[in-house]
Amino acid sequence: MQTVSHSFIALAQSLELRWQSYRESGDFDQFIEFTLSLNGLTERLGQQNLPGLASACEELEHRALALFNDSAAHPVTHENADAISQQLNTILRVLQRHETPAVIAKRLSDKEDNEPDQWIRQRKVLIVSRPEHPWAAALVEQLSFYGFKARTAGWDDAPEMDEPPLAAILIPDRENSLYPPSAVAALQRLKASFVTTYFYCLSVPSSLEAIVGLQRAGANVCIPAEIKLSDILSRILDLVESREQETHRVLIVEDSRTAVAHIQRALDLQGIDSRAINTPLALLQATSEYRPHAILMDMYMPFCTGVEVTRALRQIPEYQSLPVIYLSGETDIAQQVEALRLGGDQFLTKPANPIILGSVVKTKIDRYRDMLRSGRHDGLTGLLNHSASKEQLGQMLRRALPAGHLAVAMIDIDRFKLINDNYGHPVGDQVIRSLAWLLRGRLRNSDLIGRYGGEEFIVALNGVELSQAITLLDRIRHDFSQLPHAHSRGALRASFSCGVASVPSYLTGSSLIEAADEALLQAKREGRNQIIAAGRKKQELSV
Ligand code: GH3
Ligand code: MG
Ligand code: MG
Ligand code: MG
Repeated sequence: MQTVSHSFIALAQSLELRWQSYRESGDFDQFIEFTLSLNGLTERLGQQNLPGLASACEELEHRALALFNDSAAHPVTHENADAISQQLNTILRVLQRHETPAVIAKRLSDKEDNEPDQWIRQRKVLIVSRPEHPWAAALVEQLSFYGFKARTAGWDDAPEMDEPPLAAILIPDRENSLYPPSAVAALQRLKASFVTTYFYCLSVPSSLEAIVGLQRAGANVCIPAEIKLSDILSRILDLVESREQETHRVLIVEDSRTAVAHIQRALDLQGIDSRAINTPLALLQATSEYRPHAILMDMYMPFCTGVEVTRALRQIPEYQSLPVIYLSGETDIAQQVEALRLGGDQFLTKPANPIILGSVVKTKIDRYRDMLRSGRHDGLTGLLNHSASKEQLGQMLRRALPAGHLAVAMIDIDRFKLINDNYGHPVGDQVIRSLAWLLRGRLRNSDLIGRYGGEEFIVALNGVELSQAITLLDRIRHDFSQLPHAHSRGALRASFSCGVASVPSYLTGSSLIEAADEALLQAKREGRNQIIAAGRKKQELSV
């Protein structure tokens, strides 16, 4: 099983080493290395479901960058160095705790099966409000369904927690009025003890002063007063959702070996993978083999210029929006404008500052990926869409065969048409989103979760046998059937039916899907709200 956090634990270790060598030598170059690897870690964390930790890291990065401009100011003062050490240690300590991946979290209120299970990492949330605030209790309950363990605290409490919560949610006593100074002070105090936690303030009036004041005190997200509790939950869940993690890949087209070495070192330090070619003639082959997310293009090369190569690249539909960043000693503005007009995305002057180079590359890649993502992901749930799910299943299957395990489940919400008819389409949408969150909260990052059709989902579990898959999915089925879905007149309950098929009984993507689908139909016929394994004797099928 692949550990998601492995790479950032390694990054954290190298970060710590770099900081130590800077403290020993006071050498500005070491400080640059430290700042670069800090930037790499921030980026990595941002891709994980650890927004609080990422923002703590960002804050430290800003502190380091403020000391960046003046090389004569190094070594920095003891106070500055100690402050950085302290902030760094807090981040590293929290990081160590995340060494085990978020895997198969289960219903946390299940008291009866509380056996220690190394697969489970509870994602903690702290809710701060006056005692007995109705929203607090509702949030604790709702969050627990999605694999979070929420606890409440009062404004004056100093909550003891064995690890910092992933998120803290502040609920003011009075809606849509300014947070009183005591609440702001409480926020500040909590932020100081939980620097890596992501802070949400609810019911914030739409006034710039209110928002700026809360941000200064440590709020990461201010949620306006008019937003309803069910939407608040959706904002929180969407934000802590884990995103797929893939390295950034950059192709460098550059004839100077010195320039290539300089660029690769800068990219490397920020965790960006790169490959270099020294002639534009190799571009198409390198692009199709390496599948870069961006190209760094030299302006002047033998045979043809970077602008000509980019124009040619843009003729190929697949590469029409692949980011191209020009690198050149060129300072002539008219030339640069022309180069951009002919299909480049950005201009950087050589030798580029490594931090600027890294952040330009990442920004371009992230935007490009968002664009690609919207083609592969479903807008309502953020899950993989139908065709991307099938594609990913194919990849998982290739990795699992010949000897591994893989279980595929088809899940369909029961009598969903009635929910739409009785409560309206938006409520139906919310039920679909809830099931998506539930699956995301309970399954591992390495599992496939896709929206296969309207109210039909596909799940594929890596390295899991049929019986294990059924146990796991049945727990999710049970919890989903208990989950209240808010509508204007109260709350409704929904359920789903599920069919499961697995390797080695079925060995292709389409046969797995077909068999799981058939089992799903059988589950519907036998009364819904149940799971059936493919391959069971099916005398009832003719009924
Ligand atoms: P069964 O238990 O047999 O699955 O019954 P069902 O009513 O769930 O099945 P059916 O396939 O008849 O109805 C599915 C409905 O889901 C029909 C369609 O209008 C609705 N639907 C599909 N996509 C969406 C969506 O994105 N949002 C909402 N609200 N409804 C959707
Ligand atoms: Mg050149
Ligand atoms: Mg249905
Ligand atoms: Mg259906």
